[in-house]
Amino acid sequence: MSLPRLDIIIPVRNEIANLPCLFDRLSHLRLPAQLQILCIDDASTDGSTAWLRERAEYDDRISLIHLARRHGKEAALDHAIQVSTGDALVCMDADLQDPPELLAAMLAHWERGTQIVIAHRAHRNDPLLRRLAAWTFYRTAGLCGLRIVPDTGDYRLIDRRVVRVFRALPRPKRHLRFITQWRGYEEAVVPYPRPARQAGTSRYSTSDLLKLGWALLRQA
Ligand code: UDP
Ligand code: MG
Repeated sequence: MSLPRLDIIIPVRNEIANLPCLFDRLSHLRLPAQLQILCIDDASTDGSTAWLRERAEYDDRISLIHLARRHGKEAALDHAIQVSTGDALVCMDADLQDPPELLAAMLAHWERGTQIVIAHRAHRNDPLLRRLAAWTFYRTAGLCGLRIVPDTGDYRLIDRRVVRVFRALPRPKRHLRFITQWRGYEEAVVPYPRPARQAGTSRYSTSDLLKLGWALLRQA
């Protein structure tokens, strides 16, 4: 019996210092799934593009989409989700803040029939200001009636049936954080201590974060 296919979607913006370690850790995983890695290069300028191209050339489990200008993580993920054809997909940051080893626990839930498996940041190593901003965002979202599980990000596994529904949504509502709004799908949460970024600093500026928070809250 052939193994199910899991698409790992990785948005990349200037992550050359993290990519070798990320791919090394991914290659050591022993999982009951065929992994297909889909990297979305968000117009990197630091050599990530060339590194990924070379890697994709000799490893056919890796495919690469290169965006000619920076679109931001959300648009990059959206683009990849549109073309994903796996039995399930998972979104994973390139900076190792989404530990690849957590996939084993996420897959175990999926194999038992759970359609949305969300990694939950039980403990986070972000700077104080960032944690404060996150706290404010989740409290405001709750007050606005948005059902977003606090302390979660895009690190989540989604069954292809949910992906199909997601793809059919119009753009502003088509955001991964909103899929927990939908009733009728079985969800599970896998807690993990969120490590600090392995190398470099966040690719989000304060204004990027404010824009993202506002874009999400406007959907309430
Ligand atoms: N990223 C991207 N485009 C951007 C900003 C970020 O593709 O404009 C990618 C980045 O390379 C990383 C992921 O999105 O793989 C999360 O970014 P980051 O770690 O900077 O976000 P944070 O962890 O600070 O929320
Ligand atoms: Mg990060």
